[in-house]
Amino acid sequence: MARYIGPVCRLCRREGVKLFLKGERCYTPKCALEKKNYAPGQHGQQQRRKLSNYGVQLREKQKLRRIYGLNEQQFLNYFTKAASQKGATGENFLVLLERRLDNVIFRLGLASSRSTARQIVRHGHVTVDGQKVNIPSYQVRVGQVVSLKEKSKAKQYFVDMAENAKNKTAPKWLEADYEKVGGKVVSLPAREDIDTQVDELLVVEFYSK
Ligand code: SF4
Repeated sequence: MARYIGPVCRLCRREGVKLFLKGERCYTPKCALEKKNYAPGQHGQQQRRKLSNYGVQLREKQKLRRIYGLNEQQFLNYFTKAASQKGATGENFLVLLERRLDNVIFRLGLASSRSTARQIVRHGHVTVDGQKVNIPSYQVRVGQVVSLKEKSKAKQYFVDMAENAKNKTAPKWLEADYEKVGGKVVSLPAREDIDTQVDELLVVEFYSK
């Protein structure tokens, strides 16, 4: 299934929660959910129906998938990989999603949203241990240093972004270095380091049927 390229605020309105897909705008009163807190479409203003167990699990799965901006197949691949690993599948699943290179750029504050981070990676601005990597799904490993290409660091967009990033707090598993416009992966993320507001157990239940 192709990636969704329509208006992203509709996705938040569909889920009834902020998914923070639009960067800074999500934190302002301009957020669409602040103005229209009901589902999109002709019948959106009708009261939301009470969901079955399956419905609850489905919505949680969609929420998580949309937060990370993945299509169904990519998302399922992560789940399959998480289920084959030792430990709690739900936590493994979140860790795999967090270790994506585009997510790391976002978490370091070098992009205002994951979709912007993905573009930055795709356009070849990002390096891992000094080597250019333009694959957003690249899984970072402990000890790796993620940064921007020297040429990219001089671009005004990244100068501003690095300046803004100083006001943000990177998660514990990343050590931000704003002088070098990047950061180091100091550990794998633990569940408590991941502030994604989802119940991953519901997602596991959804796929375990
Ligand atoms: Fe969601 Fe952000 Fe749009 Fe608000 S502004 S509805 S949080 S994408």
